[in-house]
Amino acid sequence: MVSMTQYEAVIGLETHIQLNTLTKIFCTCKADSWDDPPNTNICPVCTGLPGVLPVLNRAVVEKAVLLAAAMHAEVQPLSFFDRKNYFYPDLPKGYQISQYDQPLARGGYLDVPMPEGYTRRVCITKLHIEEDAGKTKNEYDRRLIDFNRCGVPLVEMVTAPDLRSADEAAQYIIRLRQLLRWLGVSEADMEKAHLRCDANVSIRPKGDEILNPKTEIKNVNSIVAVRQAIQTEIERQIREVQAGKRVEAWTLEWDEDAAVLRKMRSKETEADYRYFHEPDLLPLTVDEVWKAEILADLPELPLERRQRFAQQYGLPEYDADILTNERSLSEYFETAVKAYGGDPKRVSNWLINDVSRMINERGVPAGALKLTPAYLAEIIKMVDAGTINTNTGKSLLDKVETSGGRAPGEVVQAEGLARVSDTGAIRTACAEVLAENPEQVASYRAGKVTLMGWFVGQVMKKSRGKADPQMVKAILEELLA
Ligand SMILES: [Zn+2]
Repeated sequence: MVSMTQYEAVIGLETHIQLNTLTKIFCTCKADSWDDPPNTNICPVCTGLPGVLPVLNRAVVEKAVLLAAAMHAEVQPLSFFDRKNYFYPDLPKGYQISQYDQPLARGGYLDVPMPEGYTRRVCITKLHIEEDAGKTKNEYDRRLIDFNRCGVPLVEMVTAPDLRSADEAAQYIIRLRQLLRWLGVSEADMEKAHLRCDANVSIRPKGDEILNPKTEIKNVNSIVAVRQAIQTEIERQIREVQAGKRVEAWTLEWDEDAAVLRKMRSKETEADYRYFHEPDLLPLTVDEVWKAEILADLPELPLERRQRFAQQYGLPEYDADILTNERSLSEYFETAVKAYGGDPKRVSNWLINDVSRMINERGVPAGALKLTPAYLAEIIKMVDAGTINTNTGKSLLDKVETSGGRAPGEVVQAEGLARVSDTGAIRTACAEVLAENPEQVASYRAGKVTLMGWFVGQVMKKSRGKADPQMVKAILEELLA
């Protein structure tokens, strides 16, 4: 019997990315209808009434060019819109405006770092812009259609069959989502279908160059689903081949609730979409001047920044990766390091351990915190200088944030949070605690030395957290000796 490890998977992904423009691609209807009732953001253009003309939204081209450049693709100076003709109830025009043989960009790749340490380069065979179709919903014996999504701008991106496992496919989507948000071209929320994914999967004996018949998995709309559906299909294909059967070129649908693949149809012939250039739109020209204007907004990319953080600030890979997960956080970090002027790793620790928690709890990007990078730097400096202890510093983060951005130094003054380093005051507090707890003192003296932590805690409580715990411990030890 042939073992599973003798096979490798060959996977290509087709992604549809909803651009986050204000309006649709060819009309002025609102593009994002997530919170709106069905058929409220529609007009004669996007519902395909006779006699209307589409007008291209410049912002769509700009966001798509930005994405193409970030994917290292070559933006074509001249591209065309084409009609893709097919009949479906949620496509009122009877065709979708897309790009076919002369798309906006060609080539390109995304480097996907894997948790195991290697990097998988995934090439892009196609990148074009197009309009979305409507949404069909089956309810009991009725079929309901919502045209809100007609004309929503999409970028379709198809990868070469470069991915070798379900994990790699999932990581590709994770890194693509990160990039889309980083660039600000899409919200990339898979739950809201801003980022949709179909997967082509086949297997072959490891080391082989041939491409075997592939199946296409439709509608995998979460990272978990991408990984599960592809893994399930790889295992199914291996079982088929081991049983001496042939893998048929099916189209499969992932049922997320049941975690099974269902056969949608046998895919034998490609539909004939009778593409032809869209006669109502001019060819799309992206000249050097416009391109340069758009690319002036191209930021340093996440992986480049990750590498730079590790080198420039001497951070471990782990820190550099977390800090560059999201653009706003990476910018926050750099500003805070500059304001702090000390060891960048110390800023990284505060950010990863404490500020990240605040960001998650509040659901805001780092840049929107009232606790500015300068304030964070000030708090760390106060801890370094011994003005406040570490615990006070940590609670100060929330206090500054909820105060709406009051300076940390002011909060410390107003609330009397400065550390009590006056030995006399601490000594009095220690003596009080011992006098109030004769039983514990007796147990301690009888050998239960683990009570020391409890004594320290009592004194800290008395000082409202302001005493230096090291000093408290030293004085208690002295008093109890
Ligand atoms: Zn419209």
